[in-house]
Amino acid sequence: MGLLIKGGEIVTASDRYVADIRVDGGTITGIGTNLEARTGDETLDAAGKLVMPGFIDPHVHMELPFMGTVSADDFESGTASGIAGGTTCIIDFCMQGAGQTLPQAIEEWHKRSAKAVTDFTYHMAITNFGPNTPAEMREVVEKHGITSFKVFMAYKGAIMVDDGQLYLIMKEAAKLGAVVTVHAENGEAVWNLQRELVAAGCMGPEYHPVSRPSAIEGEATERALMMARLHGTTAYIVHMTCKEAVHALERAKLSGQRCYGETCPQYLLLDDSVFTKPDFGGSAFVMSPPIRPGHVGHHDALWAGVANRMLDSMGTDHCPFTHEQKKAGLGDFTKIPNGAAGIEDRLTLMYSYGVRGGHFDVQRMVELGSTAPARIFGLAKKGSIAVGMDADIVIYDPSGEGTRSAKTHHSRCDRNIFEGFKTYGHVATTIVNGKVAWDGKKLMTTRGSGRFVTRKPSHFAQHAEVKV
Ligand SMILES: [Zn+2]
Repeated sequence: MGLLIKGGEIVTASDRYVADIRVDGGTITGIGTNLEARTGDETLDAAGKLVMPGFIDPHVHMELPFMGTVSADDFESGTASGIAGGTTCIIDFCMQGAGQTLPQAIEEWHKRSAKAVTDFTYHMAITNFGPNTPAEMREVVEKHGITSFKVFMAYKGAIMVDDGQLYLIMKEAAKLGAVVTVHAENGEAVWNLQRELVAAGCMGPEYHPVSRPSAIEGEATERALMMARLHGTTAYIVHMTCKEAVHALERAKLSGQRCYGETCPQYLLLDDSVFTKPDFGGSAFVMSPPIRPGHVGHHDALWAGVANRMLDSMGTDHCPFTHEQKKAGLGDFTKIPNGAAGIEDRLTLMYSYGVRGGHFDVQRMVELGSTAPARIFGLAKKGSIAVGMDADIVIYDPSGEGTRSAKTHHSRCDRNIFEGFKTYGHVATTIVNGKVAWDGKKLMTTRGSGRFVTRKPSHFAQHAEVKV
């Protein structure tokens, strides 16, 4: 039994046209006009709607052990929440625990992710570079099919790597044709600022952004890109929030460096007034890097970046903690678990504020939210609508208006950082691996139906030796 999607406007990163799509099993098998349903086919009428490749979230943390607790969505609830928001594939971060080898961490992550309801892969986060790390990195790429790494330049005393380790990780990744994704903040400066603020009795969530000013992110972005440039490594800067970081990436790109940048809706749509909400409400917005002040050019730089291709992708950094979990930092903002939900809000916000807000068109929206993550990270069968691609498809109804709210989202988090945001249209249908998993009202998912997707290293790898 197949699936026939009739009369929708197909939108890919490059094209926009009305046609029908045939799906058999988990694959797109036909695109054309006036395709006929066969006996047993399910038919979906998509007239007046946008039919897009399923969105891919390149930045999420499901059931992440972090800051003394575990993020509130597990792989099942988190990917299900994604489906309700049009996301059909995630890239989580597999974290090397203290004393753990990289393959041991992967084994642990596979146990957690087995309940996912969309396809998934990981970025492999290296938190300690030792003598065996180069061999382990090779195993991660060649045996496990994980072709991107992650480094944290912040969180000193926990998961931060120093410059020496950063240098070596960039060097090894270049040899493997792997991408290095980077959390870029100057961890030493943050560490000192946090301690000074706490010593001065500045304990509320409103001091979180004070401890991590934008210059700290700009400097680290510059330094990460320099380290990548030394070795010809492909670098990808995650969750960029400020003009200093965008400008550093622009300079690198314009000098010919192969590098990418990601931002997230919260950095485009929120400003630092959120931290002063009453009753410790500001804690919901504590994440790193922090949400920035308005009216000083950060938002403009980010919007310009996503519109003019200096930024490449839109992730979410979905890493929710409930209000109860956030209370660990009541009386000391440095102990507030960092993170918020966002996987379910991304597409609707991009459409409502990016497209309807006049910043970019629907094709660029598809590129930012699906095609670019697929291409940068080697998800060969995802990120577009074409014969032979995975049947991960989102159908968006642009009519009507709505509101984002924790009352209606499917994340286990009891807060939504976009609470009350007005939106245009909604995700009418999400098709995951050829099956309707969301019909606009109800989730129809099967625990564990998501697959781990293996990837191949970048074709740039073969040129790495002459590129340096
Ligand atoms: Zn993150």
